[in-house]
Amino acid sequence: MTDSHHNSGRRRLLRGAAAAWLLSLSRTGMAAPPLVVAVRIWPAASYTRITLESRAPLQYRQFILANPDRLVVDIQDARLNSVLAGAGQLVSEADPYIRRMRAGQFDQRTARVVIELKQPVQARFLALPPVAGFKNRLIMDLYPLAGSRSALQDDPLLALLEDYNKGDLARSLPPESQAPRAGKAGRDRPIIIMLDPGHGGEDSGAIGKFRTREKDVVLKIARHLRALIEREPNMKVYMTRNEDVFIPLKVRVAKARRQRADLFVSIHADAFTNRAARGASVFALSTKGATSAAARFLAQTQNAADEVGGVSRSGDRYLDHALFDLVQTATVKDSLKFGGAVLHHLGKIAHLHKRSVDQAGFAVLKAPDIPSILVETAFISNVEEERRLRTTRYQQQVAQSILAGIKSYFASGGVISGR
Ligand SMILES: [Zn+2]
Repeated sequence: MTDSHHNSGRRRLLRGAAAAWLLSLSRTGMAAPPLVVAVRIWPAASYTRITLESRAPLQYRQFILANPDRLVVDIQDARLNSVLAGAGQLVSEADPYIRRMRAGQFDQRTARVVIELKQPVQARFLALPPVAGFKNRLIMDLYPLAGSRSALQDDPLLALLEDYNKGDLARSLPPESQAPRAGKAGRDRPIIIMLDPGHGGEDSGAIGKFRTREKDVVLKIARHLRALIEREPNMKVYMTRNEDVFIPLKVRVAKARRQRADLFVSIHADAFTNRAARGASVFALSTKGATSAAARFLAQTQNAADEVGGVSRSGDRYLDHALFDLVQTATVKDSLKFGGAVLHHLGKIAHLHKRSVDQAGFAVLKAPDIPSILVETAFISNVEEERRLRTTRYQQQVAQSILAGIKSYFASGGVISGR
């Protein structure tokens, strides 16, 4: 919602800003490419987030002024441009904290953003490096003075996940036209499989003693598997990522749904403080959030966080944080069946951590109409298994086992959606 009440004021401001910009332009003789390329304002339940996206990390100075309450952010070496000047239009009238927002050229080298407040706030600033199609971001969260923040909001990576508003999500997805036509998979159209190599970009996942990174080995395994599936006449394969980039969980799920995937396979490597822990495991989504085993797993990885030192703990903290409940029982049944088939074949080439499919409320498994599993291919924290994970032979064996699982799932009458 835009704020139409301040239109005339804004126009005056814009005119002044344009004049200041022209002035500075004539002094330097040539305009540099704009530093700030996007502004987003996102009112959430307990705070409002303002994101400034920029070509380079922003050098800034911020201070709060009272009577009236306002937050001032001076951005160094920035010129007022249409993005900054138009930011005020993004403010919703219903925003609990922001009355209006304006930007101007403060001096030759400084652009100033003034956020007029409806109530006193505490402001939290967080700079994020470029990931997944985004440039540098300066995130400014406004909280009520009296309110308390949740622990989640203090986690920069979760903050990063949250920074995907609707528009960003749409931008990260393949166009609708690429989606395959409807019909019965394997008869009217190929069976569509979405592979999801875990982690990526600044999220390395777990890291082994010899610095093997989960994000790298799982991508390699996924690529082996993709090559195998591509040879199957009746199957089509997509990947949520095929490079070293960070992809938020909900984008991964959204990609699967956009491609009308029949199966979703998330590929990971496990980690635990006890280096003796070993073996592959398969997770399917639980109907009631985490089962007790998964809850213990969660508690272990959370508690292990501080004592591990140089060794990475579970790389799946993003998953760990995001526990869910409520999914369709039918899909859970299919996921368990699919997971069981994969586990059976994995058991032929690897030690199994557990002999049955585990259930947990992992966020990537939350595609309610797509049977989905998460494969922990081995423990990267176990020296022996880390060494194995690095070998092409094991990567290929895991890929073959997953494919064999896919085939037996369908051969035994696995449910294929009629979408
Ligand atoms: Zn992982």
